[in-house]
Amino acid sequence: MERRAFFKLVGLSAAACATPTLLSGCTPSTVVEEETDSDVSSQETFGVADQPEVSFNSTTDVLIIGTGVTGLSCALPLLQAGYQVTLCEKQDKLGGDSYESDGIMYVAGSKTQEKAGIKATASQLWDKRKAQLERENYSELDFARKLFEASGEWADVLADDCASVFADPKTYSDDGVNEGILLPKNGIGDMVSVLGPLRDTLTSLGAVFQTGYTCCALISNNKGEICGARFVSADQGDIKDIRAAYVVMATGGFVSSQALVNAYAPDWVRVGCYTVASDGQGQLLCEGVGGQLSGMDNAIVLTSDVPAVAAWGLFGPTLDVSPLGERIAPEDTMTASARACVVAYDGFWWTIFTNALSEGSQSRSVAQVVSSYKTRTYGPYDDLSALASGCNIPSEQLEKTFEAYEKMVDDKKDSLGRTSQWVSLEAPYYAFKQIPVRCVTHGGVVTDDTGQVQNAAGQAIVGLYCCGSAAAKGGQGLASNGAFGMLTGRALVDKLNERKSQVEASSSGN
Ligand SMILES: Cc1cc2nc3c(=O)[nH]c(=O)nc-3n(C[C@H](O)[C@H](O)[C@H](O)COP(=O)(O)OP(=O)(O)OC[C@H]3O[C@@H](n4cnc5c(N)ncnc54)[C@H](O)[C@@H]3O)c2cc1C
Repeated sequence: MERRAFFKLVGLSAAACATPTLLSGCTPSTVVEEETDSDVSSQETFGVADQPEVSFNSTTDVLIIGTGVTGLSCALPLLQAGYQVTLCEKQDKLGGDSYESDGIMYVAGSKTQEKAGIKATASQLWDKRKAQLERENYSELDFARKLFEASGEWADVLADDCASVFADPKTYSDDGVNEGILLPKNGIGDMVSVLGPLRDTLTSLGAVFQTGYTCCALISNNKGEICGARFVSADQGDIKDIRAAYVVMATGGFVSSQALVNAYAPDWVRVGCYTVASDGQGQLLCEGVGGQLSGMDNAIVLTSDVPAVAAWGLFGPTLDVSPLGERIAPEDTMTASARACVVAYDGFWWTIFTNALSEGSQSRSVAQVVSSYKTRTYGPYDDLSALASGCNIPSEQLEKTFEAYEKMVDDKKDSLGRTSQWVSLEAPYYAFKQIPVRCVTHGGVVTDDTGQVQNAAGQAIVGLYCCGSAAAKGGQGLASNGAFGMLTGRALVDKLNERKSQVEASSSGN
């Protein structure tokens, strides 16, 4: 039998992609082999009713699946080097969780920071960043350091080549506080100032964007190399097969997959979820072609269901207390209070703040939240007893907590681990009711440092890359995922240059 074409599809069924993902629906059991001269026995082996034969609609050098900060950052060096890039996104808009995030970018050594007089280098700031990552159970700390060290360059590339706009660190960083943080132009929640210009630059360099199509299978050739992917439209009415020299999985984490959270981090399965996009499809697709998964066990980071409020404690004085008025966690960490709330089986917690916050560097965020969540914002209250009675907190306990807070501010020392914002809370007081939700996962597809996917034996899967939150080495946040995407994009430029030289050498007979 002569095989004129041989493509193998491994992935989710088209039906599974259009409905909320269930672990069973996503088990990579669908295998379809297309042969132009097929015989009956091979059809019996591989026939799957709901998968049409592979028929490529388009070809590109690199196919990037997912358009969060990772996918967009990966595309930039490739397009700048003159290669074709297609980016496919299952949602009808670009940006993923990256766009929805608080926008706090852990960056060191960028020009924006240098210009603001911040001299600290990535090596000097690493210990602090490492402590944050350890608190959130990250395991790939060596690579996290590499990404943190690349984060300054990532921010510079976005500012210099794309005109992304960051806030002036002088407005929120003083005396060593927040010196390892970059914020978007308008502060918390303004990722459009960073990702919008990046998207526009990619468009001007010729990127092809395809939204509203979910990747449901990877396509391999007869050598077992990944050479493309299949996508299905939201209504399942259309299927697209895209061929590529390299496929990059930049599909984010798995925090919104109830089934995967149940499988890997069951302690957190009953906690609600902020996001809908991160349902672990990339991890399952890679696993389906032999990719190894790692570090996904109990790898959940929590925040508030109004995430901006959880970030306020980094930029002004806030006090987080339980419904009974006890202080629960260091307020300058974004995530610790949500975790403490769940661990204590409390349904919610209070963030108490004053005008020192609402008139500070993040006043825009405070104003936006207060006007959008009127029923969740309590106050103003002129004294502690009014605050206690307005929020139904036992007044005696609240007074004790405030006393301890003021002592902590005086001593600049906190047994719970707070390290900044040593400012008294002075009336009028306000309180915001916070509800804990899942927001981020770490762990995922095992790769080398360039993002090339590896199987259980540590061998590379040819043609397949994975970076950002979908990868075991990624997932530490916006800047490190952006840096990971950028490094993967650069590694693929090298690979494509090599291929080009080989083709040129063979066509010139060398
Ligand atoms: C509420 C919230 C607040 C956060 N705040 C911060 C913060 O302040 N600082 C910080 O550093 N980090 C923060 N994070 C984490 C940060 O957003 C993530 O680390 C980062 O966005 C991950 O980037 P990514 O590109 O890997 O994934 P994403 O941004 O999630 O992008 C993945 C994309 O892939 C798409 N996709 C998924 N599956 C498929 C498929 N099968 N086919 C096609 N497309 C697919 C998704 O729709 C999505 O657009 C926050 C996260 C949340 C949820």
